[in-house]
Amino acid sequence: MNEPLTFNIAMGRSKPENIRHREVACPFCAVDELTNILDTEGDIIWLMNKYPVLDRTWPTVIIETHDCFSEFSRYSPEQAEKVLEFSLRKWRETMARNDFKSVLYFKNFGPMSGGSIRHPHSQIIGLYDYDYRQDIKEDHFEGLTLKEEDNLLITLSDKPIIGFFEFNMKFNKDTSLALLSRRIQQVLRYILTDFSKHSGSYNLFFYDLHTSSQYVKIVPRYITSPLYVGYTISQISNKERIEQIKQELNQDFFK
Ligand SMILES: [Zn+2]
Repeated sequence: MNEPLTFNIAMGRSKPENIRHREVACPFCAVDELTNILDTEGDIIWLMNKYPVLDRTWPTVIIETHDCFSEFSRYSPEQAEKVLEFSLRKWRETMARNDFKSVLYFKNFGPMSGGSIRHPHSQIIGLYDYDYRQDIKEDHFEGLTLKEEDNLLITLSDKPIIGFFEFNMKFNKDTSLALLSRRIQQVLRYILTDFSKHSGSYNLFFYDLHTSSQYVKIVPRYITSPLYVGYTISQISNKERIEQIKQELNQDFFK
């Protein structure tokens, strides 16, 4: 069984936060002051996280663009593909180092997402002692098919990690990154607009379960249900709503 990760509270307190506190200057806009840079490509910058709040991890950040107020779904298709290609490559390189039990790659957006910096970025974090595969299984990516095309399967979870709505993409080494990045952009656009007037936040996670496919999970974020917090009961939506989501996505978003 995995032991919990230890969060350094003092380090956490010193970390800048500018999602709610907009007067706090953005550290990712001050490009000249960035340190411990690992790699760059155009205006994409991969660097060590200046605030390593979690013990026994190798925390890194990918600053995706110079535009502080952009967001993945607002990038041009070319920029989205470039960011995805760079980030997937760095995630796979980090996994290939074999220093880590598992490697996280995820991004947060919006006030309910748990993120602290508005500037578009994602994180790659190597975990020395923690293997998320002990808890996350292929079941968590199965559900109603929303769209199926060349080497890409998009589903809505019927066995979610938390619920209610978890959008999954199953892809492999033959999947076109142009297609994958376009579908990610379209699902994010849907979540931020027609899906719900309350949803201005999401998390996006990547998973490698040691199979021939890899997975993306996109989760619109709200207050976490007490049934999950207290009993780890995950919830799904009624069938009518799920069918409606499939129809809306296919009619208006998957172009
Ligand atoms: Zn910024």
